Amino acid sequence: MRLTVDGVSRAFGGVYAVRDVSLTVEPGELRAVIGPNGAGKSTLFALIGGQLAPDTGSVALDGEPVERLPAHRRAARGVGIVFQAARTFHGMTALENVMVGAHATTRSGFLSAALRLPGHHREERHIRHRALACLDRTGLAAWAHRPAEELPLGQQRALQLARALCGEPRLLLLDEPASGLRAAEREHLATLIAGLRAEGRTILLVEHDVAFVMRLADRITVLDLGRVIAEGAPAEVRADPRVIAAYLGP
Ligand code: ADP
Ligand code: MG
Repeated sequence: MRLTVDGVSRAFGGVYAVRDVSLTVEPGELRAVIGPNGAGKSTLFALIGGQLAPDTGSVALDGEPVERLPAHRRAARGVGIVFQAARTFHGMTALENVMVGAHATTRSGFLSAALRLPGHHREERHIRHRALACLDRTGLAAWAHRPAEELPLGQQRALQLARALCGEPRLLLLDEPASGLRAAEREHLATLIAGLRAEGRTILLVEHDVAFVMRLADRITVLDLGRVIAEGAPAEVRADPRVIAAYLGP
């Protein structure tokens, strides 16, 4: 899926969080977005995912404007998002958490489940099957029937990714998915993300760990104070004096 963000701004209380940001991410590209804390990365994701509407500017998916659509309609078009510091649903098993992600994309979804319409059981079995496959893919098969709150941090992160994957996103937004993970968990996540890219999904990745990003990304966009200050291949961005000054340090 091609993502086009054109001249997007969003302010909070008169202060710009995102200011005149434009970027195009090609189908199948893995684009990293980096920048210091408060640069506007999470706000940009919310403007793409539909959790926030822009003050000005446009967001298009495969050329179709979506900036006025609510988040669930963008999800139905194939946008999946893993929020920064996302939480799992307590009181539900890991499997049930992931099934929520799958329901978001079915035509009938929760309503059909609640009303027990004909076809509901077949659909439910299908969703369960898909959810188990997503758990397996993220290394969580053994945790499927455990309450989500009992999972260790690394597994909770993987669960959020499994939930997003179960919506079969064509554009996947990952906001700091590796934060708090141990080295081996990071390695596993990097392999998983590379695999998702190899399937042709378009991915936007916000991550603090610059080495992690440099290794995975096709291109990198650098934000500072809500603006794009650089964009290019990892080697170009690493050598850009503005990036070094704003972010990477001397
Ligand atoms: P990043 O993810 O790059 O750390 P954010 O997008 O979270 O940055 O935040 C960018 C700026 O916008 C920060 O100054 C932050 O305080 C502000 N901001 C973000 N969300 C809100 C909000 N809901 N209300 C007020 N200010 C916000
Ligand atoms: Mg953030």
